[in-house]
Amino acid sequence: MSYADDLKDLTLFKYLKAVSGELADFRGVPVHRSLLDPLAELTARAAARGFELALASGFRSIERQCHIWNAKANGQRSVLDDAGVPLDIADLEPEALMFAILRWSALPGTSRHHWGTDVDVYDRAALPAGESLQLTLAECRGPFAAFHQWLDGELAQSDALFFRPYVEPHGGVAPEPWHLSYAPLAAGFQQAMHKELLRELVLSLDIQLKDEVARHFDEIFSRFVVVSPARYPLEWPL
Ligand SMILES: [Zn+2]
Repeated sequence: MSYADDLKDLTLFKYLKAVSGELADFRGVPVHRSLLDPLAELTARAAARGFELALASGFRSIERQCHIWNAKANGQRSVLDDAGVPLDIADLEPEALMFAILRWSALPGTSRHHWGTDVDVYDRAALPAGESLQLTLAECRGPFAAFHQWLDGELAQSDALFFRPYVEPHGGVAPEPWHLSYAPLAAGFQQAMHKELLRELVLSLDIQLKDEVARHFDEIFSRFVVVSPARYPLEWPL
């Protein structure tokens, strides 16, 4: 039975909630248990080339994403511009603030991290001593450049199971080369994320800027939520 079939019996919220019962620990980070073996294999392949593949994040709950979203909307957490520089949100209209947050943070309910299928990776061995991880493009071009070059080759293999959903700037989510998605499982989740079900879920949450989200939901869905089937490895078309 596919995940989409389950939706006949469950609301999208219960469906996403059910992920928490499928989680396992990969070196201190929660992920869907289906990822344990593929991640261990990728990590071993990285290690053979001198890289220490580590996860910066894996599964993230809807509640946690609501907390991040609201903290950004309230000014308790910085909102960054395209270049990664903090914005003065007092200058922004609610609509502009919402789109600025969406550049770097998923709308709660729509994050691929809710599925347990997606992880943010880096090369722990290359993190300069005394520095904390930022997850920025500058790092990917700097200390993690060799790691990402190796990853490019891995993901280009015809039997690759992981892929990068966010790579090119296209007016939506900023490029995130560190974000990997496990295609065999993520394809099913993405198929289940019908726009109207997601709209219902998102608007039921306790989130800031809800009026703006409701007004622009169609645009948010097409620009920030949908990942083109062309990004997936060939064996997992949507
Ligand atoms: Zn991510």
